[in-house]
Amino acid sequence: MNYRISRQAGSLSPSLTLAIDAKAKQMKAEGLDVVGFGAGEPDFDTPQHIKDAAARALAEGFTKYTPSSGIVELRQAIAEKFKRDNGLSYKPSQVIVSCGGKHSCFNAVMATCQAGDEVVIPAPYWLSYPEMVKLAGATPVVVPTTDATEFKITPEMLMAAITPRTRLFILNSPSNPTGTTYSAEELKALGDVCVQRDVLILSDEIYEKLVYDGAEHVSVASFSQAHQDHTILVHGFAKAYSMTGWRLGYMAAPEPIAKAVDAIQSHSTSNPTSFAQKGAVAALTGPQDHLKTWLAEYSKRRSYAHQRLNAMPGVSCVNAKGAFYLFPNISRLGLKSTEFCARLLEQERVAAVPGIAFGADDYLRISYATSMVNIQKGLDRLEHFVRSLAK
Ligand SMILES: *Cc1c(COP(=O)(O)O)cnc(C)c1O
Repeated sequence: MNYRISRQAGSLSPSLTLAIDAKAKQMKAEGLDVVGFGAGEPDFDTPQHIKDAAARALAEGFTKYTPSSGIVELRQAIAEKFKRDNGLSYKPSQVIVSCGGKHSCFNAVMATCQAGDEVVIPAPYWLSYPEMVKLAGATPVVVPTTDATEFKITPEMLMAAITPRTRLFILNSPSNPTGTTYSAEELKALGDVCVQRDVLILSDEIYEKLVYDGAEHVSVASFSQAHQDHTILVHGFAKAYSMTGWRLGYMAAPEPIAKAVDAIQSHSTSNPTSFAQKGAVAALTGPQDHLKTWLAEYSKRRSYAHQRLNAMPGVSCVNAKGAFYLFPNISRLGLKSTEFCARLLEQERVAAVPGIAFGADDYLRISYATSMVNIQKGLDRLEHFVRSLAK
């Protein structure tokens, strides 16, 4: 048998973040004292009332297929969330619940992109975006940015990357991996370019609630009806409610796109897990006070880590306003990011993700979604490693 792999699947690179996480976990299992800065998930538990709602649904026998786009109750709660938090009006029919925000992004790309299409992706990017675009048979057009501009793409850079083939612009603010959070003004200017050139925006707003220093998240869809009509808004429960393992996310999109995504789901995953959806209703309609505690904690860790990183010789780090990542520049230390992280893990037992995974080889990604004790210990070790290189 010739096990030929399809062109689309054959072109994929497996997720490096998941690989590093697996290596660190394996070292831990072998009894080694590894500090993990690799995590892309909150270290807090899912709030109890959300777990209770799912457990109740399970106990009450809510264990069967649901509509493929999600239960009406949840889609309504999501439409209300968009109204309340973002001033956006969506009909429940424009809202599709999926098996994670990642799945929503995937479906958005599948529903809109095909061979011959180009998708503009600013780098550093979330590592799954280009792979999703390749799976759809379309071509990622990566626009590099650096820490000198806080990893922000300008309207001019976006304009220059758009061609008659451009179908989609992928925007992620606050960003994974850099934490960069665009201001309302900057977002509007990028949105204006897309409206003017008739390019769709895939706006991944999963980190909406995780912003610091008084920064405010604004949705690019909220500036005008035209902006909303050009936007596929992706969101989820993973980050703001620490529900990564529940596999639930959602999108709101113009009706024809929502319809296409519903069809894709109906033939692939069917519905997102029934009782998990009941937990999600509780997440959106219940108390939100856990966020205050989490934000205070993240904020403390972020300030500490930022200050420590900048005090290391040869390292510089912009203080990002969102998510739970810092993205220090290591280019002056003479190692490319992959070797840097491999040696850091071997020699100092600290797991961080090399920037190359996000299209930026001069950096590493440090997640501060881990305890202050771990952060202190991990940064002590990183500093020891950096000093050995800087000598
Ligand atoms: C975590 C994350 C998501 C969504 O994750 P799910 O677990 O699939 O909900 C989407 N986009 C980015 C940039 C993320 O970091």
